[in-house]
Amino acid sequence: MNKKTIGDMCVSGKKVLVRVDFNVPLDDSGKITDDTRIRAALPTINYLVKEGARVILMSHLGRPKGEVVESLRMDPVAERLRELIDTRIVKVDGCIGEIPLEALASTGKGEVLLLENLRFNREEKQNDPEFARQLAEMADIYVNDAFGAAHRAHASTRGVAEFLPGVAGFLLEKEIDMLSGLVNDPNRPFTAIIGGAKISDKIGVLDSLIENVDTLVIGGGMANTFLKAMGYDMKNSLLEPDKINNAGRLISKAEKNNVNMMLPDDLVCAAEVDAGVKSEVVPADGVPDGQMALDIGPRTIEKFKKAVYSSSTVVWNGPMGVFEIEPFARGTLVLAEALSGSEAFTVVGGGDSASAVDKAGAAEQISHVSTGGGASLKFLEGRSLPGIEALQDKEDYNAQAGDGRELENAQNCVPGC
Ligand code: ADP
Ligand code: MG
Repeated sequence: MNKKTIGDMCVSGKKVLVRVDFNVPLDDSGKITDDTRIRAALPTINYLVKEGARVILMSHLGRPKGEVVESLRMDPVAERLRELIDTRIVKVDGCIGEIPLEALASTGKGEVLLLENLRFNREEKQNDPEFARQLAEMADIYVNDAFGAAHRAHASTRGVAEFLPGVAGFLLEKEIDMLSGLVNDPNRPFTAIIGGAKISDKIGVLDSLIENVDTLVIGGGMANTFLKAMGYDMKNSLLEPDKINNAGRLISKAEKNNVNMMLPDDLVCAAEVDAGVKSEVVPADGVPDGQMALDIGPRTIEKFKKAVYSSSTVVWNGPMGVFEIEPFARGTLVLAEALSGSEAFTVVGGGDSASAVDKAGAAEQISHVSTGGGASLKFLEGRSLPGIEALQDKEDYNAQAGDGRELENAQNCVPGC
């Protein structure tokens, strides 16, 4: 990676402001149901604690839309951090101003201060410069370790780097290194498997992948729009009529680029998206009246599995069917097992895809499960991510703000001390 990381900085005794992605799922009682994102940030936090930094953690949680929402406070995250990290963790009910500044003053070396949900403030998403400045004034160094939010230009992902020297945390570094391996010179054959609900979310990445991969496998709800473009009547299936032309264009582009595009040959159909409903396997051009395609069929599963096993690099984003409901989960789960059993370099991106891989018990055997859904798609698309762009380049040893200004409070933050 060509960006500086915390390993390049002297952090001992420094106040280090770290943007983490603690946007974890909560149940109705406010309990964390999956702490993967918290655990993914531990290498960075533990390193800073061990080096004796004063660690200030900030994240968003859910969608409070600029208002205080009691059920979206960061307290459950603080509880979980206390179980995972062996140091004092102080959680405050604000992100800027007196409350965190006072708490910080009584936070010692190697201790952690957790700020309140950033999105309780409208200014966070607006990338308000004054809000960013007030976040930055607490610290000497800014660390971005929130890959899942790196595609957003918010105050905590972009704005703060105007006021502090910004570097990558270890999770961000790992994500970039792994995903760069796909974009730059992947081992071939290179196969991308793209599924999920909607083609509209993924047209950009499909366009880029067609310029890079050898095989493009399409499944899930979005395959319906491609099948429709081939002239099949998809009956009640999820479909995006205004994207049929786009699907047709992508099919032609794949042909022109000699990309082997694979679509489902057979489908699992039912009249309702319900666990108890009767389902049947039909050819892709034979969805019965009143039914919808909810998973790929057994012939398609075999074809897609073969594509995985004959590849040296595989990237997967988006489930093959409505995997949340048992009768329609098989395509997704079998494919997850295929990825975990393959010798290829395998990368999974996307929130639902990652949870499908977990459900299949396959996460350990996948080379890299990305913590970023939208961010990993943007990266694969070849777009630059504002949260990464804002960080200092490796060769740039003069501490500078994101806009290139020399920084007064950063003169001790050069490497090698
Ligand atoms: P990711 O989060 O991995 O990027 P998406 O959010 O794009 O994936 O898509 C996941 C959703 O797509 C799941 O909720 C799944 O139920 C839905 N889905 C997959 N196949 C179908 C289908 N055939 N019809 C309707 N929904 C589908
Ligand atoms: Mg999703």
